[in-house]
Amino acid sequence: MENTLQYAQQLDQQDPLKEYRNRFHIPQRNGQDAVYLTGNSLGLQPKATKGYIQQELDDWAQLGVEGHVHGKNPWVSYHELFPQQLSKIVGCLPTEVVAMNQLSVNLHLLMVSFYRPTKHRYKIICEAKAFPSDQYALQSQVAFHGYEPADAIVEVSPREGEYTIRHEDILSAIEQHKNELALVLFGGVNYYTGQAFDMKAITAAAHDAGAVAGFDLAHAAGNIPMQLHDWEVDFACWCSYKYLNSSPGGVAGVFIHNKHHKDKSLPRFAGWWGHNKESRFKMGSSFEPIPTAEGWQLSNVPVLTMAAHKASLDVFEEAGFENLVTKSRQLSSYLLFVLDEINATQTQQVTQVITPRGEAEKGCQVSMLMLERGREIFDELINQGVIADWREPNVIRIAPVPLYNSFEDVWQFGDIIKKILS
Ligand SMILES: *Cc1c(COP(=O)(O)O)cnc(C)c1O
Repeated sequence: MENTLQYAQQLDQQDPLKEYRNRFHIPQRNGQDAVYLTGNSLGLQPKATKGYIQQELDDWAQLGVEGHVHGKNPWVSYHELFPQQLSKIVGCLPTEVVAMNQLSVNLHLLMVSFYRPTKHRYKIICEAKAFPSDQYALQSQVAFHGYEPADAIVEVSPREGEYTIRHEDILSAIEQHKNELALVLFGGVNYYTGQAFDMKAITAAAHDAGAVAGFDLAHAAGNIPMQLHDWEVDFACWCSYKYLNSSPGGVAGVFIHNKHHKDKSLPRFAGWWGHNKESRFKMGSSFEPIPTAEGWQLSNVPVLTMAAHKASLDVFEEAGFENLVTKSRQLSSYLLFVLDEINATQTQQVTQVITPRGEAEKGCQVSMLMLERGREIFDELINQGVIADWREPNVIRIAPVPLYNSFEDVWQFGDIIKKILS
């Protein structure tokens, strides 16, 4: 590889997915396309999204309530447009996935069913420094059941002087707490370090310990390949506005393994949209859950945000998720090469990549610990048209996304840093 514009442009020429960039609105900075590297925070808008939303606005204008059944995409079953496509993205059966609510809400709803502490088994194992919303959800669930968060929540941390969590430390924490463990709840990919966890092994270890395994896939869905069904993950949830490009605060998704669908002993908070479709509109008083993930739905569907979700998933479908993963790895390798090259040409190391480098241990995101002039470099990147993310005390997170980022974006990012340093 070479850290040159010409080489990056050559990689773009050869990229079979290069046309997909034109399907997105690229934010503008200084009169030209920004180098947008925050698809891990908010994915860009597909140009088709407006038309998908307009369709539903038109049906609403022309049909009023009749849009529920006579719309082009009848609203009463709008959510049924998603399971086929989502199942390919998270690796499961279509009956195991449903688009509903938002992420933190879904995490709570799933914990109602899957965190069922008893006097002896009440602990939750999670990653240290999980996303704050997840920490708050866990703490409040534990307190709701009458336990002490400080006692019930066991965090697995990186070792002294390290940034990512060693896999063996996760497994040994599960082993150590196995007699008190109710739930293992990890991120699929940590939002701060970009570390992807071995969900298959964590699930198997949780089950061996007699516990349930759930994952927050906010940074994994649409980013890394997964096989949630085959791995026997019990439940998972994610948002759709990061790698899934489905609009700010857009409708989220959940996975519930089919082994749980008919389990009547699972508590759940019920709503009419989870009720048997045949008799839903008879408005009866006894709840009869749909025997699929849909049985966890509460409310009728938010059609406008779902239209944005559909627009984006159609782009994913067309591009092919495996193709996206292939390009993602190439972009990532190129980024790591560029950063290594910058370090090698400076007298002092400028940046340290804290994201693991192994293919199975990361997705798009690379987190860079800035060793020299971090904030100054970041501010100058922003001045020069890069959109990236700064996390205190000194980490820059960037995520070249295969649908709309180019190898040239990666080169430009590196080039701006080089110019600042010289
Ligand atoms: C982005 C993110 C959230 C955000 O939650 P919302 O309910 O969508 O606001 C929660 N958890 C994780 C791990 C995230 O990365």
